[in-house]
Amino acid sequence: MRSVAGMLRAALTAATLIVACPATATSSGPGRLEVVRGAPVTAAADLIVHNGRIVTMDDARPEAQALAAKAGRIVALGTDAEILANHAADTTTIVDLRGRLAIPGFIEGHGHFAGLGESKMNLDLAGVPSWEAVIAMVADAVRRAKPGEWIVGRGWHQEKWTSTPPGAVEGFPIHDALSAASPDNPVWLTHASGHAGFANARAMADSGISADTPDPDGGEILRDRSGLPTGLFRQNAQRLIQVRDPAGALSPRAQFERMDRAIDLAVQACLEHGVTTFQDAGSTFPVIDRLAERARAGTLGVRLWVMIRTDIELIEEHAERYRSMRRIGDDRLTVGGIKFAIDGALGSRGAWLLEPYSDSPDRTGFITTPMATLERAAAVAMRTGLQLCIHAIGDRGNREALDLFERAFRRASPDARSGTGRRWRIEHAQHLDPDDIPRFARLGVVASMQAVHCTSDGPWVASRLGTERAGRGAYMWRALLDSGAVVSNGSDVPVESIDPIAGLAAAVTRRLPDGTQFFPAQRMTRMEALRSYTRSAAHAAFEEDIKGTLMPGMLADIAVLSEDFFDVPDEAIDRLRVDLTIVGGRIAWQRPLDS
Ligand SMILES: [Zn+2]
Repeated sequence: MRSVAGMLRAALTAATLIVACPATATSSGPGRLEVVRGAPVTAAADLIVHNGRIVTMDDARPEAQALAAKAGRIVALGTDAEILANHAADTTTIVDLRGRLAIPGFIEGHGHFAGLGESKMNLDLAGVPSWEAVIAMVADAVRRAKPGEWIVGRGWHQEKWTSTPPGAVEGFPIHDALSAASPDNPVWLTHASGHAGFANARAMADSGISADTPDPDGGEILRDRSGLPTGLFRQNAQRLIQVRDPAGALSPRAQFERMDRAIDLAVQACLEHGVTTFQDAGSTFPVIDRLAERARAGTLGVRLWVMIRTDIELIEEHAERYRSMRRIGDDRLTVGGIKFAIDGALGSRGAWLLEPYSDSPDRTGFITTPMATLERAAAVAMRTGLQLCIHAIGDRGNREALDLFERAFRRASPDARSGTGRRWRIEHAQHLDPDDIPRFARLGVVASMQAVHCTSDGPWVASRLGTERAGRGAYMWRALLDSGAVVSNGSDVPVESIDPIAGLAAAVTRRLPDGTQFFPAQRMTRMEALRSYTRSAAHAAFEEDIKGTLMPGMLADIAVLSEDFFDVPDEAIDRLRVDLTIVGGRIAWQRPLDS
């Protein structure tokens, strides 16, 4: 007779999840605890989640009422009675779902981890309604900055502004008003897509940019009719603006502290949104080194799967060593991929297209990394077993990336019909020629997509591509799934908010802000949407043996939602919230009572 489970009652509102843990039990006042005595415990758990609907994503047992976890892993699923009777002990933390939905923790399939943290430290221009409002935010930052200090921001998008700035070139602003607002502080404002940036006069002067500066390979300095730089730098031209990172002026020690702060802010953002694993689409070796130190020290609050993103020479030299960083620090960090970009983004007309842009007939976009470099990256991936992850947005970019993969697979085994087993990835796979859609499944290539880009960018996609071309090639996740391809999901944060709920809503509805739907025939079912954010994302990283489903032996990474995703109407999906995030069988975050 020793099974004692504490359950907090009454004192909490109905909207609150009831969590009882040993510490709470001893510190709670009289009358707040109900002691449950059950049959002898066969296997005491650290954590029990019960009295809800647990959707497991496991085909053998799709649902359960309750689960138990021990030492970070799931040990049992079953009915409330079974789990409480067999696994509840005095030391067990018990979560009463009160009928709520628990699912595998979300796996962010493609985001930028350090960028997420840094976006919380710089000017956040996402959702700012106009160029004038952007300038006002910069002016405010200038008042607080020292002369000469860099003002850095990110997230503006000219297509989302309520008005076109005066004197705009191709819809982009010109720098005059920004330069007047910040005459002594260099300013660098990265586009929401990350594929362009905007500089003021001081930043351009400090970087030696003039009307005579030529466009670099794979990039463009956008100019006005008289040939003067407007302030906009596309693709590789962004690198012409030097020391744009405020950290560049900091001491090594201060840079290190800044990186740690960015990591902490990124972890917090993940946990608040139920993200228990984050697939980082590209970090340099120093960042990976710090993440690995924190994983080993037990101070990394979420799990990371990381792509290496740096110069090809460094990758060739060090890939082997970083490849050995697998599931370190209690499965907190794996270095699993190599990331390169073959083209740019659609918004800034950098995506590499087979046919010209509909709204700019002399442009077909850019190749942003020389094919010879991509071939070298493919060779490293072949040699080390790292997955090659190629950012490709335009239909030409996607075709060239698939061709590159196919050449590499053929070289490795001329008889093989596919690369199945290597799980190389195309990041975004945003606009596809219909002929290329079946190649994903055939080559075993993962389509690492971001559903939220569809609903966020949908309002202007047809102007870039034309309606007909958008309809047969843009965000083709239904066609990819039907062809047998694995589609994973993510947000590309900080390009979009990390919120997976927005991604689920976009995948299921393809509903644009004005209420219309973007080619709704390509919608996912709700189960497919959830799979893309859990099990398929785990597959995309060779982690389906520990993540993405809730079954015995798997990591106890769980998200609890405020309402049942499978029951609410389409229009209400957006209002779902994550109430509780569990990582490795421990409560990592719980929504505060007042929010
Ligand atoms: Zn990205």
